[in-house]
Amino acid sequence: MSDVSEAGAEELEVWIDQDLCTGDGICVQYAPEVFELDIDGLAYVKGHDDELRQAPGATAPVPLTMLTDVVDSAKECPGDCIHVRRVADRVEVFGPDAG
Ligand code: SF4
Repeated sequence: MSDVSEAGAEELEVWIDQDLCTGDGICVQYAPEVFELDIDGLAYVKGHDDELRQAPGATAPVPLTMLTDVVDSAKECPGDCIHVRRVADRVEVFGPDAG
């Protein structure tokens, strides 16, 4: 899926593969509500509680209002390590493993 509007009606979540993160902070510039750099210099996702989710593969929901910014982050991410997937079937819809 490459069209943001097609994904708009579905519940999506996002995770970051920190092993590939370069720490440049592009995602944080695009979507500071969803991404944050920790003191280790790597980006993590966060949820409504603003707590960073640091377990490997941990996900955070993608609010509809942030969808375009999160998808742009995934497209621009130099580490190719931002993965956006459907909650329902865990299929990646934006990111390096999207079909
Ligand atoms: S844009 Fe990608 S590489 Fe850059 S800080 Fe965010 S997750 Fe890491």
